[in-house]
Amino acid sequence: MSDLYIQTDLNDLPDARGYFGEFGGRFVPETIIPALDELEAAYNDAMADPVFHHELSHLQRTYTGRPTPVSYARRLSEALGGARIYLKREDLAHTGAHKINNALGQGLLAKRMGKRRIIAETGAGQHGVGTATAMALLGLECHVYMGTVDIRRQQPNVFRMRLLGAEVIPVESGSRTLKDAINEAMRDWVTNVETTFYLLGSALGPHPYPKMVRDFQSVIGAEAREQIQTLTGQLPDACIACVGGGSNAIGLFHAFRADENTELIGVEAGGHGIDSKQHAARFADLDISRPGILHGTRSYVMQNEDGQIMETHSVSAGLDYPSVGPEHAHLRQLERAYYTMATDDEALEAFQVLSKLEGIIPALESAHAIAEAIKRAPTMPQDSVLLVNLSGRGDKDLDTVIGLL
Ligand SMILES: *Cc1c(COP(=O)(O)O)cnc(C)c1O
Repeated sequence: MSDLYIQTDLNDLPDARGYFGEFGGRFVPETIIPALDELEAAYNDAMADPVFHHELSHLQRTYTGRPTPVSYARRLSEALGGARIYLKREDLAHTGAHKINNALGQGLLAKRMGKRRIIAETGAGQHGVGTATAMALLGLECHVYMGTVDIRRQQPNVFRMRLLGAEVIPVESGSRTLKDAINEAMRDWVTNVETTFYLLGSALGPHPYPKMVRDFQSVIGAEAREQIQTLTGQLPDACIACVGGGSNAIGLFHAFRADENTELIGVEAGGHGIDSKQHAARFADLDISRPGILHGTRSYVMQNEDGQIMETHSVSAGLDYPSVGPEHAHLRQLERAYYTMATDDEALEAFQVLSKLEGIIPALESAHAIAEAIKRAPTMPQDSVLLVNLSGRGDKDLDTVIGLL
């Protein structure tokens, strides 16, 4: 390992134009291109500067609590009677999920660029809380766009953001949810691009965001790859992660990309099931999902015949999004990664099983990954190893679960 905190490889995609094969790119108004160019140049400059790596690594150790551990899920593994299941514990990162890794990385970059006004968008509020937390730490001004429907549904997170010193800006347009908040944030960025840094929350959006977010989250896989070898003396037979926008999954997968014997498995939200059309399984339901453009990037998008974006459904807010990061579309096309889904009911079951057998209450998003491990482990030999990314803790989901059980 070099002494750089984030390992980048010049041979890795995206290419110079921001493409992962036929996915990715930049599909934005002309007025945003200079801002994206400036961001890309500043990011490349930061990645070449050991001081930036040192600052980030210092914060990750002393503030986030990294490295997060890998835990052997002994009782779960024994109950299933197959592969040994190990959990990468992003639930133990400060704020209880992986989103802080990206928020701190981009926050430090904003500071380095001299931009003191940070904007973000949020759906359920998790990215908003992660961003507001990092901006409180770094002393930067934070404005979070949020649809009024989401504001009503997510009161505790709205309160958290305000407590952390962020301004929550209500969005009244369209369906008054995440995609409208993203549109408003983009509009703000175009208007205030000189002073403002747009902090995007997942491995999505126009180049260089999918690469940058992946790199900031790649600490998950880099740590886990070392830890699992220390614990088991081998690489995992498979890595499993849930896929909303795709940042925790790509953050885990990236370190294993060249390990041909390690299967990479992404789990999307199957909602009420594929036939119900109420889900967010962008790769599983090709009747209503196909390559298209959403929020500045080309990837799989859930859309009707006229190209109108579909309403999605998941019990977990973090997986409830009609598109998916472009690198996942590419990994799927290459057959380097495999994508499957878990329904709401399967995730709720996994939520309870992990709580009872391991004393870990997972986020509902992460419970989708656990659900896949529960299906898969019994089919695998007992000396095999499954590494599951536990992207967050479930405290935020207790109200939802109480309502459903
Ligand atoms: C936001 C969130 C997700 C989904 O986002 P990705 O970018 O796909 O990782 C998953 N798990 C938790 C706990 C989250 O907060």
